[in-house]
Amino acid sequence: MKNSRYIFITGGVTSSLGKGIISASLAKLLQERGYSVTIQKLDPYINIDPGTLNPYEHGECYVTDDGAETDLDLGHYERFTDITTSQANNVTTGRIYQSVINKERKGDYLGKTVQIIPHITDEIKRRIKLLGKENYDFVITEIGGTVGDIESFPYIEAIRQLKWELEDRVITIHLTLVPYLSAAKELKTKPTQHSVKLMLESGVQPDIIVLRTEKPLTSGVREKVAKFCNVNIGAVIESVDVSTIYEVPVLMQKEKLDEVVLKKFHLEIKTAPPLKKWKKIVKIIKNAETKIKIAVVGKYVELPDAYKSINESLIHAGAHLSFKPEIHYIHSEKINNDNVQDILSAFDGVLVAPGFGHRGVEGKIDTIKYVRENNIPFLGICLGMQCAVIEFARNVLNMENANSTEMHPTTPFPVIDLMEEQKSVINLGGTMRLGAYRCKLKNDSKLIEEYATSEIKERHRHRYEFNNKFLEEFENAGMKATGINPDSDLVEIFEIPAHKWFTGVQFHPEYKSTVLKPHPVFISFLKACKK
Ligand code: GLN
Repeated sequence: MKNSRYIFITGGVTSSLGKGIISASLAKLLQERGYSVTIQKLDPYINIDPGTLNPYEHGECYVTDDGAETDLDLGHYERFTDITTSQANNVTTGRIYQSVINKERKGDYLGKTVQIIPHITDEIKRRIKLLGKENYDFVITEIGGTVGDIESFPYIEAIRQLKWELEDRVITIHLTLVPYLSAAKELKTKPTQHSVKLMLESGVQPDIIVLRTEKPLTSGVREKVAKFCNVNIGAVIESVDVSTIYEVPVLMQKEKLDEVVLKKFHLEIKTAPPLKKWKKIVKIIKNAETKIKIAVVGKYVELPDAYKSINESLIHAGAHLSFKPEIHYIHSEKINNDNVQDILSAFDGVLVAPGFGHRGVEGKIDTIKYVRENNIPFLGICLGMQCAVIEFARNVLNMENANSTEMHPTTPFPVIDLMEEQKSVINLGGTMRLGAYRCKLKNDSKLIEEYATSEIKERHRHRYEFNNKFLEEFENAGMKATGINPDSDLVEIFEIPAHKWFTGVQFHPEYKSTVLKPHPVFISFLKACKK
C-alpha cells in the first residue's frame, strides 16, 4: 500500500474565496505530473448531506455515480480532473455525528464518555484516511467554512492531530482574502495575519498561504505575509481574480503552487507539464465569439450556483465546438403564453432546468409549447423533461389538465407519476432514484451519433417518472421514447424526431460533463443551436 500524502485546504477571512477551485486546480497540476490524486470535501454543517437543502442555501446539489447527494465543489473536482468521486468524497458534521452516535448505541465505546475529542475527531480522521487506503499519492481535503467558525473547530483539531501522527505526510494550505482599499490604494494583509493567528491558536501552522486578491500582489505584500505568518516567501501564492475558473490551474502553475507542495513533501520536482490541451480550451473560453444565445429557464435564476453544472456543461460543449455560448437565465415564473414569444424569440436554443415542487412549472410548460411549435432547439433536464411530457399531453394529445402527480395529485392524466417503490417513502433524505443507471438508446435517437454507443450510463436524482401507461399514445403522436432503462423499462429520453432538436432527458447529463470530456447531450444540443 502507498503511503498517501495529505493536503488540507482551509479558508480564512470570508467564505466563497474559491477553496474548491484551488483544490481542484492543485489536483489537476499534480495529476499532470503523473501522480494519482483524489479530493474530498468536509462540510461543517449538521445536515447529513445537501440533498435536503434548498438550492438557495448552498447552490446545486451534485450527484455522484454511486448516488451520493453532495456539495457542488465535487462537481468542480470532477470537471477539472476527470476523477469519479463517491460518497466518501463528501462528509458532513451530520454524518460524522450520526456514525459516532450509532456506535455509541451499539455499545462500541465500552462505557466511555463520548466526546468531541477524541471520538468526533477520530471519526473525522478515519474518514480522511479512508481515502488514503485507496492507494492515491495525494488526498486533498478541503475543509468547508472559515477558520474560526465554531463548526470548523473539530476539523482543524483533526488536522492538528494528523500533522503529529503522519508528520511529513501532511501539509496545510490556507486560502485567505487580501482586500484592496481603494481610498488607501492599498492591499491589506491584516485579515490574513489574524486568520493565521486563529489557526495557530488551534495548533496548526499553515505551510502555504494562497492570497485571493483583486489586484496583483506587490513584493511588499508577499514579504509581509511571509514574515507575519511564518512561511517562506515562495510559499505565499497569489490567486488574482480571473474571467474563467478554468484559468486558475494555469495561474497556480505560474505561481508554482504544485512545486511548492512537492518541495514541502521532499519530492523530486521535474519540469512543469505543458497543460497544452487545457490551455487551448481556456483560450477558447476566454476569447471565442459569443454569438449563440441560450436561454436557461428555471426558478432559481437569482442564484447562478443553483445551475452550476448545467452552466459549466454548456461552456465545455461550446469550447469543444469552438464557441462560447451566451447563457441567459430566465425566471420560469415570469413566463406565460402571452409574453413567451417576446422573451424567447431571440434565442438559438432553450434549456428547461430541473427542479422540485409546483412553483414556476406552468411557465416551463408554456416555454416548451413555444419552442416545440416554433422548431427551436430544446433540451429538458429531469423536471424539464417531465414538463415536456405534460405539455405534449395537454396540447397535442388533448389530455386536459394532464400533469405530474407531484404538482397535481388527482390529475385525470397522471403522465408523470411516482414509481411504486417511492409510494411508501417517508424520509426525504437520500431516498430518490439516485446515481448512475443504465439506458439503452434506440437507433432513431439524435443523440446516438455523439454518444457513439447505444448503451449509456447516466446519473439520476428524482422521484417521479414517465407513466408507461401512456407511452403508446405519445409515440403514435410523434414523441418517441428513444432511451429506455433496460432493467426497469422506465423512459429515460424522449425526442420528437420531426422537430429540429427536441430532447428531454430524465437523467442529469450535466453531472458528467468535464472540461476535457464535454458531454454528448450538450454537444448535440449546441450543434443544433448553431445550425
Ligand atoms: N421533481 C421531479 C422529481 O422528483 C424532478 C426532479 C429533478 O428535476 N431533479 O421527479
